[in-house]
Amino acid sequence: MNDMMADAEKRGYAVGAFNVNDLAGIQAVVQAAEEERSPVIIQMYSIGLLGVHYVVAMAEVAAQSVTVPVALHLDHGRDLETVETCVRSGFSSIMIDGSKLPLAENIEITRQAVDMAHAAGMSAEAELGRIGSGSQELSADDRKNSLTDPQEAVEFVEKTGVDALAVAIGSAHGLYKFKPDLDFDLLKELRSLVDARLVLHGGSDLPRDQIRRAVELGITKVNVATDLSGAYTIALRKVVADSEGIIWSGRVVGAVREAMKELIRDRIRLFGSTGMAN
Ligand SMILES: [Zn+2]
Repeated sequence: MNDMMADAEKRGYAVGAFNVNDLAGIQAVVQAAEEERSPVIIQMYSIGLLGVHYVVAMAEVAAQSVTVPVALHLDHGRDLETVETCVRSGFSSIMIDGSKLPLAENIEITRQAVDMAHAAGMSAEAELGRIGSGSQELSADDRKNSLTDPQEAVEFVEKTGVDALAVAIGSAHGLYKFKPDLDFDLLKELRSLVDARLVLHGGSDLPRDQIRRAVELGITKVNVATDLSGAYTIALRKVVADSEGIIWSGRVVGAVREAMKELIRDRIRLFGSTGMAN
């Protein structure tokens, strides 16, 4: 994942990281990337749902079936055990999320996760500040306090050696109940001070011009989860609505895969990563 983000930094685009939960999702990610000639990151959060060995095996077959670079990344690793499982099983990179912990504890758990990943030749991502959920309606003060502090970010990256940092600059996970308004001055400051590549979480339901601006200012990875589940849901509802009685499950697989693929292709174009595998 580091190599991808290095190229993205050099050429001014962002790599899309797409959260999926099944084989249809994995295929949608790599097929969309192949058609866009783009590098891509398959991301998973609930690895226990399929089992880590299934996830790695499916991702390997998927990556081998295309000619563009593909990484497999653990999203929001909740503890060191989960990170270790993914490192041992053949992921490309991991994330440890200690953002709910006090700074010193976040640094400590992240440092351990980074060491584990680096020892296996993998890259590591962590989070500083609180990206939170779009369904939380915070006061202006609370929202400001949850943003990534630049000085803390410098210290955090120095002490942990983390490769990629998920920064809280005003985006949130899920759908927004408030109007998202990314803090571009903060992003610029982080970009100039912090010696790690910056990741934008909460890339769903964000105005397209704000995403474009964030990429211009140095975001090199954008996470997309909710919008992908949205495309899946709409396609699934349509199959159900158009059918009577028992639905052939193959029809569902085909429909949701196609819908996810279209969404992913659109986001790859938005992130400026079309053609960047070349
Ligand atoms: Zn996230």
